[in-house]
Parts: sequence; C-alpha cells; structure tokens
Amino acid sequence: MIVLEGKKLSDELLSEIQAEVAAIKSKGGKIPHLAAIIVGSDGASETYVNNKVKSCERVGFISTHIKLPETTTEEELLKQVEAINQNPDIDGLIVQLPLPNHLSADKITNTILPEKDVDGFHPSNVGRMALGLPSYISATPNGVLEILKRYNIPTEGKHCVVLGRSTIVGSPMSILMSKNSYPGNSTVTLCHSKTKDLSSITKQADILIVAIGKPAFVTAEMVKEGAVVIDVGIHRIEDATKKSGFRLIGDVNFEDVAPKTSYITPVPGGVGLMTICSLLSNTLKAAKKEVYS
Ligand code: NAP
Repeated sequence: MIVLEGKKLSDELLSEIQAEVAAIKSKGGKIPHLAAIIVGSDGASETYVNNKVKSCERVGFISTHIKLPETTTEEELLKQVEAINQNPDIDGLIVQLPLPNHLSADKITNTILPEKDVDGFHPSNVGRMALGLPSYISATPNGVLEILKRYNIPTEGKHCVVLGRSTIVGSPMSILMSKNSYPGNSTVTLCHSKTKDLSSITKQADILIVAIGKPAFVTAEMVKEGAVVIDVGIHRIEDATKKSGFRLIGDVNFEDVAPKTSYITPVPGGVGLMTICSLLSNTLKAAKKEVYS
C-alpha cells in the first residue's frame, strides 16, 4: 500500500508555480492576483480562505481578502463581485462557500465573469469542461486528477466508482474520469444517496473516489483488494488529546481501509492540499489569459 502524499505533491506544484511567477516578475509581466470573498464567520471557511491567501503569498501572487459580515445583503455582495469583475488588476475571484442561507450561491457564482471564475463553478466553465473545451476545472476534481497523474496511476479501462454527485466534486469528477484522455478513459459509475446496495458497487471499483460528506463512511468491506482509494471528505471531529481539541478525518475509515488498497490518500495531507494548488494554477492561467483570451 502506498500513501498518496498530497503534501509532497503540493510542495512540488507550489514550487513550480512560484518559479513561474518569479520568471514573470523578472520579465516585468503581470503578477497573478487572486481575490477571495468570505461572508460571515464560519470557522472552517475562515481556515480554508486563510490557507488559500497564505498559499498565494508563498508563490508570489498578490491576494485581496475581503471579509464581509453575516448580515451582508445579496445586493451588497453582488456589487462587490461586479466591482472585481470590472477591475483589470484582479485575475481570479473566489467566493467561499457555503454562504449564509439568505444568499443564493448560484446567483453569486453566475455573476462572476467566467474568465475570473478560478473555482470553475460558473455554468460556462462547467459546460466547457464537459465538452472538453478549455476551461477552469473545479479545484477539487482537478486536484484528484493531478494526484493520479503525478503517481502515474493507470486509469484506462479501469472501473472508477465515484461516491457522491455534488456539482463541485462528484459530478465533474465522474465526467473527467470518463474522458478520452489521461487521467480518464475509465468506465465510470456514479453513486449517490438513492443508489441501491452501495457496497456491491464500491466493491467492484479499481479506483474509488469518495466525496460523500460522511465521516469514516467507507469501511474495508466496501473496498476491493488492491483498489486505489481517493478520499475527498474533510471533517473536524472532537479529540481531547489534541491541543486544538479536534482532528481532521475523511469520508474513508483510513485505518480500516488502507491495508486493502494499492494506493490511498490520507486526511489531512491528501486531496485538500491539492485543491489549493489547483486554485492557484487556475489563477496563474487566468493571469496568462490561457483559457479565455
Ligand atoms: P455534498 O454536496 O454534501 O454531496 C454529498 C453527496 O454524497 C451527494 O451526492 C449525496 O447524494 C451523496 N450521499 C450522501 N449520503 C449518501 C449515502 N449514504 N450513500 C450514498 N451517497 C450518499 O458534498 P460535497 O460538497 O461533494 O463534499 C463531500 C465531502 O468532501 C465533504 O466532506 C466536504 O467537506 C469535502 N470536500 C473537500 C474538499 C477538499 O478540498 N478536499 C472540497 C470540497 C468538499 P444525493 O445527491 O442523493 O443527496
């Protein structure tokens, strides 16, 4: 069993991006600039945004971190998005989800210009991704592809089972794994809460990608011997032995499942770190106008 080290890969990727930014700087080119908006004070969301901003600094990007109160109206938020859309200095914009209930994530996402939508959530980017046209691929599925690629994990002709059909992870993941490319060319089954006899399907997976949002849901008896298991889930659970009072776990019961696998991602230190790299890589593409010219 090999643990897929997101930390090692993300360090590699961040160094590559950092080198490219240094080269752009030395030629007097445009330094990539990412803006991040967060509404309210959800602890986990704040951690995610802070990590994204910190990673921007590490690679030499400019970042703008906009914190808005929980009481922000839709009109106020849309105004901020429009202002960033019109600002030629800002290449990419992310609005951290989830938003407070009174704000429509769809409306906000659809207002971000597709060429600045480095999260890859805008319908235009999702549609272009599905059609195989140049697009910003949403950060988490892209991070998973990068892990498979960098570890040279064969995907062609494999049965890939994706657990979860969310628009930001499971659904794009299933499309990408079925594409006529590498990583891809897998035969894909997409499972969700209405799937009957889930274990009988997950047990057929050569590659099992889990994004279900349920802590330690996948156990050894759901996994085939020698499978590749990618765990997208992230959960904070209380742990009195930790200074912080909590620890992170995934959707897969790692201790139980790992011995049966050929490759497995840990949580933390797996997909999460790669997600941030994908976001930065999309922002670099935006600054270079690689996707929309
Ligand atoms: P989500 O929107 O809650 O979607 C969960 C999916 O799992 C849904 O499609 C749901 O089916 C399905 N599901 C729920 N219970 C099920 C069951 N018992 N059997 C089969 N399917 C079931 O979740 P998400 O946004 O994709 O996130 C999934 C996990 O990934 C979460 O832990 C989240 O925190 C994490 N995440 C991590 C990253 C990262 O960077 N690593 C990024 C995003 C998300 P229905 O569609 O039928 O409801």
